[in-house]
Amino acid sequence: MTSQEIRQKFLDYFKSKGHLIVPSAPIVLKDDPTLMFSNSGMTQFKDYFLGYKEPKAPRIADTQKCLRVSGKHNDLDDVGRDTYHHTMFEMLGNWSFGDYFKKDAIAFAWELLTEVFGIPKENLYVTIFEGDASENLERDQDAYNFWKSHISEDRIINGNKKDNFWEMGESGPCGPCSEIHVDLRSEEEKAKVSGLELVNNDHPQVVEVWNLVFMEFNRKADRTLEKLPAQHVDTGMGFERLCMALQGKSSNYDTDVFTPLIAKVEELSGKKYTGILEDEKDIAIRVVVDHIRAVSFAIADGQLPSNGGAGYVIRRILRRGISYSYRFLEMKEPFLYQLVAVLQEQMGKFFPELEKQGTLVTEVIKSEEESFLNKIENGLIRINNIIKDTQNKGETVVPGNLVFELYDTHGFPADLSRIIAEEKGLTIDEKGFDEEMKKQKDRSRGDSEQKVYDWVNLEEREENFVGYDKFESETYITRYRKVE
Ligand code: ATP
Ligand code: MG
Ligand code: MG
Ligand code: MG
Repeated sequence: MTSQEIRQKFLDYFKSKGHLIVPSAPIVLKDDPTLMFSNSGMTQFKDYFLGYKEPKAPRIADTQKCLRVSGKHNDLDDVGRDTYHHTMFEMLGNWSFGDYFKKDAIAFAWELLTEVFGIPKENLYVTIFEGDASENLERDQDAYNFWKSHISEDRIINGNKKDNFWEMGESGPCGPCSEIHVDLRSEEEKAKVSGLELVNNDHPQVVEVWNLVFMEFNRKADRTLEKLPAQHVDTGMGFERLCMALQGKSSNYDTDVFTPLIAKVEELSGKKYTGILEDEKDIAIRVVVDHIRAVSFAIADGQLPSNGGAGYVIRRILRRGISYSYRFLEMKEPFLYQLVAVLQEQMGKFFPELEKQGTLVTEVIKSEEESFLNKIENGLIRINNIIKDTQNKGETVVPGNLVFELYDTHGFPADLSRIIAEEKGLTIDEKGFDEEMKKQKDRSRGDSEQKVYDWVNLEEREENFVGYDKFESETYITRYRKVE
């Protein structure tokens, strides 16, 4: 089954169960000062759950473009290094707004995975919330009982509050969740260690695919919980992970979501992708094909790379891709922009914004590549001078503040400085570098990294509102005007 067919089957299934199918919301949020990017399927529905808006229908399903690079959900460091976390990914989801609850949500998920998609039951595990005495929360016995009618009891695993209790923010709707994990190991591997032990343990082939959240509580401002008047379901399934399971692969990058992009990188760079986890060239290829999706979708949805706010996040992602390909694929000329056409070909039918904005996306990426590669060339001259100065003084440690300045003012990646220094037998004053970095972070208070929850709700927003600093407010106003 191709990825296109898999996506369509998901939507058709939920349509047949009375769900309204809606398009993905933009990946860039234009009117939410608390969150820069959609980071889950429910982002676009949060006002339904908070009671600020009437849902369009009691049952909805879709695929949502998500980006997890800042705030509570920041997977950036894993990307390229593992095989199943991306910056940009699609989250397939179905929702019930005060309509069906645990029993049907569980039955739908099970029927879809095992009967429609045909995943063998022996490859699946589920988790349920084990309860939490400090909050007087009981184990999710209802979920347990509903699962019991589908799956053997030894495959239902207790999960703690961190993994199995979802909260929207400091306050607001919340509730236990139940996750489905798929074991994709060979029979031989399975015989060695029980899949049970590997669930939620970062094993690359025993992966979480679907999270079913049952919203039944409201967390009040004083942190106590009350039962919600109506109960809701919010689910999210990683599309690329589902494709991996259904296409019999052991890495998301081996599915047809990524293989056309990888083939193009191979063609342009002359390097072969071998799928090895620790191989630097393979990491670079994974980073590149991941990042090009994030950046292309963000630009297509109206977020240009820039020096502040969401635009800066996008610029950083793109520069990360360029650095990796410069270092490990030896690509010294712009080339990433040529991947846009491949992405468009593959995803443009379902996401027409890619078709419409393809030329702009291509041009913007190309000019970003040109300017950053220039910076790299200039930076190389500067770091070599700094290294010479250090050696002339008979020292072996490169001053951290100079490396930071190269990074901060000249856009030259610190790890490149580090590598070049090491090649010359020098080290970098990491402490000095970290101190400068910390100072800079303190300066840009209000930076996205500081947000811990998905968002804050309106009441909290007013209470905690301390004003935007100029940087942020400008970005926000510009983006807001664009919407109008
Ligand atoms: P994980 O534990 O693997 O990081 P999660 O618990 O953070 O996932 P959820 O917030 O429950 O993820 O999101 C719902 C689903 O979205 C997950 O079950 C997973 O299939 C998928 N997903 C989450 N993060 C990513 C990512 N960075 N890349 C690809 N898919 C993801
Ligand atoms: Mg995660
Ligand atoms: Mg998880
Ligand atoms: Mg989860």
